[in-house]
Amino acid sequence: MTARIIDGKKLAETIKLDLADRINALKEKDIIPGLTVILVGDDPASQVYVRNKANTFTKLGLNSSVEQYPTSLSEEALCERIRELNNDPSVHGILVQLPLPANLDANKVIETISPEKDVDGFHISNAGALMTGRPLFIPCTPYGVMKMLESEKVELRGAEAVVIGASNIVGKPMALLLQKAGATVTICNSKTKDLAAHTKRADVLVVATGRPEMVTGNMIKPGAIVIDVGINRGADGKLKGDVEFSSAKDVASAITPVPGGVGPMTIVMLLVNTIEAAERKL
Ligand code: NAD
Repeated sequence: MTARIIDGKKLAETIKLDLADRINALKEKDIIPGLTVILVGDDPASQVYVRNKANTFTKLGLNSSVEQYPTSLSEEALCERIRELNNDPSVHGILVQLPLPANLDANKVIETISPEKDVDGFHISNAGALMTGRPLFIPCTPYGVMKMLESEKVELRGAEAVVIGASNIVGKPMALLLQKAGATVTICNSKTKDLAAHTKRADVLVVATGRPEMVTGNMIKPGAIVIDVGINRGADGKLKGDVEFSSAKDVASAITPVPGGVGPMTIVMLLVNTIEAAERKL
């Protein structure tokens, strides 16, 4: 079996085209959706992600600004800047790029963002609402994965879904969304005993660990849908996922590539969330 490639880049482009009418409707009312991204420190991977996000917004004629601060920025100064942005009507979305330097308390900083502008969906009130009801914003990466599964017409009701990784930004919200869609969900983490015993049961396997190529073909159920969230830069400078693509593609029925899979979907869902934030102001 050679797996179908789930092309995140292509799907992201289709979603962008579909957003054009919504962007125009806002512009007719003199509203240009605007995102402010805050980057603290000089983590090279974060700089690339921030640049990609800002470029996507600019290309569509939306407002985006990147505020870059040195690692020496104090927590209070950062929170004060976020409070100013909360009160700025031209800013519809605020994103603090993670990880933050160790001297800053990421939870405290994220909770300073107004939930109405929390387009990453990481604020405790949006995270809580994802568990109990309808959040204002769904975190972009798991939201993008759900759109990919939807576009592939994957039947999630009754499916066995296994998520490897339990972070607040990917694994946990991913598991909640799959469970809401009717799947029976297992969440694995670094302490899981016999990981392969879980992954081999999965009709849908989502991997988000940051461990390059840790899931190999022999850990995958034949015919499974495999979503690789990982982004790891190898010593050769090339991007690698958390799944060993060469062996997985011979077992899975469909698989996301890295790059060109989940990454572009994350950015487009940020766009969707920011447009939604602007529409709520109407
Ligand atoms: P994280 O470090 O916060 O969490 C990693 C999770 O994986 C933890 O729950 C840990 O217990 C688990 N884990 C680690 N090693 C494991 C192992 N050997 N077996 C089972 N579980 C294991 O990472 P994160 O922020 O959730 O990101 C995960 C990956 O996804 C990274 O590669 C990151 O770069 C990538 N990512 C990609 C996108 C995107 O847009 N494609 C967005 C966010 C994160």
